[in-house]
Amino acid sequence: MVEDSYKHKGMRRRLIQKLREKGINSERVLEAMGNIPRHIFFENAFLEHAYQDKAFPIGHGQTISQPYTVAFQTQLLNISPGDKVLEIGTGSGYQAMVLHDLGANLYTIEYQKPLYERTKNFLPQLGYKIHFFQGDGSKGLKAHAPFDKIIVTAGAPTVPNSLIEQLRIGGCLVIPVGDNTTQQMLRLTKVSDRKISKEVFSNFSFVPLKGEEGWR
Ligand code: SAM
Repeated sequence: MVEDSYKHKGMRRRLIQKLREKGINSERVLEAMGNIPRHIFFENAFLEHAYQDKAFPIGHGQTISQPYTVAFQTQLLNISPGDKVLEIGTGSGYQAMVLHDLGANLYTIEYQKPLYERTKNFLPQLGYKIHFFQGDGSKGLKAHAPFDKIIVTAGAPTVPNSLIEQLRIGGCLVIPVGDNTTQQMLRLTKVSDRKISKEVFSNFSFVPLKGEEGWR
């Protein structure tokens, strides 16, 4: 049972207000993030960081993404209940919880085994029904394709071809692409087998997407 006190709820309300002020306007995304106790990913000593709008280390050189980044990417995905979604970079599982709460049928893949194992054990204890995989998500998850939506939560050097191939027609890929310090957020929509439309959004700073179609 997760402890979610008035104090936590108050801090979370203030965080959601901050996300609104920064331009997040999807009420569904704000509501989902307003319901999810982000503090469950923090040890007691670091609890005051849970509702600050910043990334935080989760071990193994990785981070739980900044709430604004989670909100921004989730808003771009525009999840409808029942969408089959692939997340690349499970990490803590926070982004996965947000997507699940919006009704996604979620497949998530993590490169690092200890993080994969921790999250695969933790989220089901909270009642989350998610498909967990371990491996190189830069190549997607061919055995389970196609997907309606794909989200990459690590910075890629280029757009992996496999991810475009594994999108359903009409589906979209949200991915940060750039160098190892700054990446532009892209939304690529698969209009037809031959046509992709590309939208470019603001800059972010992610940990690197490793693997065959990422940073080698
Ligand atoms: N979605 C995560 C969350 O809510 O905590 C964000 C985690 S962190 C910003 C990015 C994650 O991508 C890290 O856990 C990292 O190990 C993972 N990653 C990097 N390259 C990967 C790859 N090729 N396949 C799968 N996961 C990868």
